[in-house]
Amino acid sequence: MTRMPAAFVGHGTPMNALDHNRYTQAWSNFAATLPAQPRAVLVVSAHWYVGVTAVTAMVAPRTIHDFYGFPQALFDVRYPAPGDPDLAERVAEVVKPTWVGLDHDGWGIDHGTWSVLVHMFPRADVPVLQLSVNAEKPFDWHFDLGSRLSSLRDEGVLILGSGNVVHNLRLIDWHSPGQGTDWAHRFDDDVRAVMTDEPARLAAASEHRDYRLAVPTPDHFLPLAYLAGLSASTGAATSTIVDGYEMGSLSMTAYALTQ
Ligand code: ZN
Repeated sequence: MTRMPAAFVGHGTPMNALDHNRYTQAWSNFAATLPAQPRAVLVVSAHWYVGVTAVTAMVAPRTIHDFYGFPQALFDVRYPAPGDPDLAERVAEVVKPTWVGLDHDGWGIDHGTWSVLVHMFPRADVPVLQLSVNAEKPFDWHFDLGSRLSSLRDEGVLILGSGNVVHNLRLIDWHSPGQGTDWAHRFDDDVRAVMTDEPARLAAASEHRDYRLAVPTPDHFLPLAYLAGLSASTGAATSTIVDGYEMGSLSMTAYALTQ
């Protein structure tokens, strides 16, 4: 079977689920150019940031609306993709000795996942699993877990990190669409230099002078560690799918690993 690409997507605000813009177009193009229809998508979403490592293992995961203050149309979105309990067991197998719990009734498909997948696979015909981001673990642990998912790519699984490289909600400026602050540009540019040159060095981003502004909490940054780990395990660097800034303190950069 052809090795499936892997990716990280900057998902931005939930409104991207309903919008059609150059980010959503790039996500859609990425899916359209995959070498084959994936067996499933395994998403590491910033929005399942909990004190445990788990993978969704239900037959029919529910759509979770984990936000507030947005239009009703966003709460009406359903993403009825099936799950794949057998694949969930396979995930638990390939990451051993790291323990991953099978989640049969807790989580589902959160907006970090469906706001992107409604554009990538609008028919919701590719099974979806989510892997939680364990909030108790350091960067290197996530990087290592990502590298151990690598064999799933050869089984037709599309591994997708969903977060944002720069994500500071406290400093959001709703009057700056399409804009990024100086520090947002500096951090995103330097992360991009690493991701397109030697992703194995991504851990050093925590020493960047703008890290505390760009990554005030690790939830949206850690999904990128999984792509960096996958990249390091193959020795190939990633390429940029799309880039840009929103509301000053978000970057929308997305990366693909195709080798
Ligand atoms: Zn988010």
